[in-house]
Amino acid sequence: MVDGRLLLDGGAPLLPHLHRVGVDPGDIEAVFLTHFHGDHVLGLPPFVLHRIFIDPRPLTFVGPAGIGDHLEQLWELSWGHEWKTLFRPKFKVKYLTAKRSGSVAGYDYESVKLDHGAMGSIGYRIQVNGKLIAYSGDTEPTAPLEKLVSGADVAIVEATGPGEVVTHMSWEAARDLKKRHPKTRFFFNHLYSGTVSGAVKDLQVVFV
Ligand SMILES: [Zn+2]
Repeated sequence: MVDGRLLLDGGAPLLPHLHRVGVDPGDIEAVFLTHFHGDHVLGLPPFVLHRIFIDPRPLTFVGPAGIGDHLEQLWELSWGHEWKTLFRPKFKVKYLTAKRSGSVAGYDYESVKLDHGAMGSIGYRIQVNGKLIAYSGDTEPTAPLEKLVSGADVAIVEATGPGEVVTHMSWEAARDLKKRHPKTRFFFNHLYSGTVSGAVKDLQVVFV
């Protein structure tokens, strides 16, 4: 989550985590989705419920082609036939396919297609208060990732685990990436195995 107004993907348990870091879920104006794997979208249904019944401010989703159909299927899976009859009419939502560059909720962004198995992923470079933030979602450490983080003030990039990690980036590749971009401040997420000394133990709000 960035600037209290942007969400970058929506893994579970999103809603309680927003409350824990003191963010009002109603303040989120746009959600950037990198791809549709479950660990990146399954926190969204409870958040959407909040945005329908507790705080019905407008919300925009930006993501890969087909984002509207994909998310509507997820909402329908979550609430069955009541989605269309009870929930959908109250939901002030816009679905936008990510462009190469665009603007959402007053934030300028560029998108970069990344390598992530058969599904692929879209990384974002977002201008936030004069700083350039790069966010990878899931990616292999290939050439498009270099392009994504190049010149960024802050890069939020996955580092899945030590050694061989299929369709993802290993810790070793993450370390090398950081070395190649010494002026960029890196935050590594998506750690699925292994333990890292110095890793944060809980949620943290970071000011950059
Ligand atoms: Zn994935």
